[in-house]
Amino acid sequence: MPEKNVADEDVKAAIERTDTGDGPGTHNLDDLPESDFAGSAEDDAAGPQATATIPYDRPVEDFIDELSATGHVTHTSYMKTSVTLHHNAGRLSHQGVLDVWTVRPASAHFDVDAAGDVAQYVKVHEYAWAVGNTVGNQSSISIEMANATLAPHWTVAESTWKNAARLAGWLFAEVIGERPSRSNLFYHHKWSATLCAGPYMDRIYDEVLAAAQVAYDYFKDTHPTFRPDAEPVPNERRR
Ligand SMILES: [Zn+2]
Repeated sequence: MPEKNVADEDVKAAIERTDTGDGPGTHNLDDLPESDFAGSAEDDAAGPQATATIPYDRPVEDFIDELSATGHVTHTSYMKTSVTLHHNAGRLSHQGVLDVWTVRPASAHFDVDAAGDVAQYVKVHEYAWAVGNTVGNQSSISIEMANATLAPHWTVAESTWKNAARLAGWLFAEVIGERPSRSNLFYHHKWSATLCAGPYMDRIYDEVLAAAQVAYDYFKDTHPTFRPDAEPVPNERRR
């Protein structure tokens, strides 16, 4: 992989960064409930069976058990009502993101890399150490995105943010049950004091939301997994 050396440097920078409010993930230990520290030692039944990723219609690389082994996730399930997008603050690979979270007490549910490929680290209903806010970590599903360039613009490649928006649309259709809107598709800075997901993503928010809505409409209408014999017009659609 030609980007490996770049990713290695960025992993090092991300680990050494003292301002941990800015990606990937965040730790704000004061905001974490006691339960975060309790359950982390408990071991799932050890075995060859890896924890399954979401049944997405594209490949999802599975880092769930490896992230769980760091203890930087809370195995408590919550009802999810929003999706929060982040940037890595680095040009990280999926493995690079895990390397950072192995050292820093942080996590998020998904990462989308430079090529637009998806990896999952935390089960969708669980509490990730992602947004620096307890309610946010309980109610939101966090998606990290690799940067294409670093400060000050922190750009994100189109392949990356479009695939993050598509994944968000799937999550809204299959997990949350609401159409994405300004009141449920957020950036990290909605929850706590940080610039994440960066000025570039702020500028293109409307495009990101539109892409998430297109994906939501597609997945809601196809329902390949859940409604094989559905009526032509779904009647349970929520507003
Ligand atoms: Zn963030």
